[in-house]
Amino acid sequence: MTLVADEATSVDENAMHGFDFFKIENFMNKKQRATRDKVRDFMVNRVLPNINPYWEKAEFPRELAMEIKDLGILGGLIRGFDSAGLDPLEMGLVMYEMARVDGSISTFYGVHSGLAMGSIGLLGSDEQRERWLPPMSRLEKIGAFGLTEPDQGSDAVNIKTTARRDGDHYVLNGAKRWIGNASISDLLIIWARDENGEFGGYVIEDPQNTEGLTIENIWGKIGKRSVLNADITLENVAVPAENRLAKPRSFKDVGKVLVMGRYGVSWEAAGVASGAFEHAFNYAMNRTQFGQPIAGFQLIQQKLVEMATEVSLMQLICLQLANMMGMKQMSEGMASMAKYNNAKKARYVTQLAREVLGGNGILIDNHVARLMLDAEVIYTYEGTNEIQLLILGRELTGFNAISPNFKLD
Ligand SMILES: Cc1cc2nc3c(=O)[nH]c(=O)nc-3n(C[C@H](O)[C@H](O)[C@H](O)COP(=O)(O)OP(=O)(O)OC[C@H]3O[C@@H](n4cnc5c(N)ncnc54)[C@H](O)[C@@H]3O)c2cc1C
Repeated sequence: MTLVADEATSVDENAMHGFDFFKIENFMNKKQRATRDKVRDFMVNRVLPNINPYWEKAEFPRELAMEIKDLGILGGLIRGFDSAGLDPLEMGLVMYEMARVDGSISTFYGVHSGLAMGSIGLLGSDEQRERWLPPMSRLEKIGAFGLTEPDQGSDAVNIKTTARRDGDHYVLNGAKRWIGNASISDLLIIWARDENGEFGGYVIEDPQNTEGLTIENIWGKIGKRSVLNADITLENVAVPAENRLAKPRSFKDVGKVLVMGRYGVSWEAAGVASGAFEHAFNYAMNRTQFGQPIAGFQLIQQKLVEMATEVSLMQLICLQLANMMGMKQMSEGMASMAKYNNAKKARYVTQLAREVLGGNGILIDNHVARLMLDAEVIYTYEGTNEIQLLILGRELTGFNAISPNFKLD
């Protein structure tokens, strides 16, 4: 039985026309609008009517996700290598439109196209880019990015996974946790320290059939249930020396990928919040109690206005972040501030949206509860909100409050 329906039968189109109070669309050129519309069409007409059963069963909608290859967005900002070569605003809009409908699809895309392809694009040699990026741009190969470990989360700078050189190979030992797409990946990047203590990214080809490598999905997640995250163990896994990414030597290097990730996640948080608000607004206009639409009650209007205001502020900070990135002036702190604000507000907005739907807000059929739980993951991944706050505090004050012994190497 396939879970993919042919038609959008239960979707209220009005709920998903897009909220844009400050007319951000006026700042988009034709290409940016076209990309936005293409992704919106796919998400509203293909993903929205089909995603809930997958979410409920914690199943990855592979067939559906593969349709992303036809949208011309893979590889994001990367130019050449069959990648999309999007500009910063286009890239942000892709994450926004995806998350506005479903946070699992945006994570699948963000991990493959942003973290995995981004690592190769930013930190690989020309030969490595030529070897791995084109098939990834066509989704013939799915990527995953393994940094976090069971005992090293926020503390990822101190990862314990090791890479020891042995002739023309490196031998990897250690463990990773939470790795998105790992169990369906064709290229798995594992971050490890070598004998000299240097940071490195090692690309494991065909991870599903690699000796010494175990990948086990994590079950029981309350958010982003239809994207798969895994625990990984590495016992003497041999990786050819030419598969070590050419450029990275310190945590600062992988930090470049993480900052780009925070850019995408800031847009993702805004998208999740906007999607929940749009559903709630539509519901409030149509739900009648005491003989009138609930949108006419002051207490409901207070929630709607709070949501509309926060979503607008999130959109505006994202737009300015895109401008800064386009001008090559986006600092680490700017990306952290946008992620910090938007992840916090996404939680707030999605919870208000759930309240507006009353009992129906508890039902997955009405989408808002799913978005609310996706916001929980956004709050924690790509650096928890506490860590964003501390990165920002360090940039503002010059004092490092992350940890007395925190060093970025
Ligand atoms: C669904 C999901 C998908 C993910 N996907 C990936 C992936 O694809 N690849 C990958 O590598 N990782 C991935 N992650 C891992 C994610 O990045 C980590 O969960 C995150 O960095 C936090 O690490 P932790 O969960 O170990 O929490 P911890 O670091 O143990 O933090 C626990 C709490 O302590 C706080 N804390 C920690 N240090 C400090 C400090 N110095 N000061 C104040 N408070 C502090 C944290 O903010 C948090 O509130 C994913 C996580 C989730 C949940």
